[in-house]
Amino acid sequence: MKNKSLVPVFTESIPADLEPGTLYISMRYETSVHLCACGCHTKVVTPFGRHDWTFTFDGTVSLRPSIGNGQQACRSHYNIRNDRIEWLPTISKRATQLASDRDRAAHTQPPTPRSLKPWWRRIWDRVQRAFGRPREGTPGCSKH
Ligand SMILES: [Zn+2]
Repeated sequence: MKNKSLVPVFTESIPADLEPGTLYISMRYETSVHLCACGCHTKVVTPFGRHDWTFTFDGTVSLRPSIGNGQQACRSHYNIRNDRIEWLPTISKRATQLASDRDRAAHTQPPTPRSLKPWWRRIWDRVQRAFGRPREGTPGCSKH
């Protein structure tokens, strides 16, 4: 059965046994994993990164771009927005090919320097920002 929503679960590492309808998010490994929302039980891994997925959390979880399981038999294609699954038309073989070509092109570009801060420091920084506490040397928060 098709899922209409996913329950986000923040976890340090991704468990071996995944529950359907759950989106496991590991900031430590900068990735999220869920079972394909169509109910086919395919494990869908969505790493976070400039050339991968953008993860947004505002109390609900959104992932961009859409999840396209064009390599799987189900060919399901959906957006995860605010914990909800927005179903899109199934992916054609051609579109899968184009997407994987694009992926390859993106991944052959020189890697961007990553933050050298440890993961907990990045989360801490985000928490600080989330609470709008002006950081040292920063003239307040411009977003009100
Ligand atoms: Zn599926």
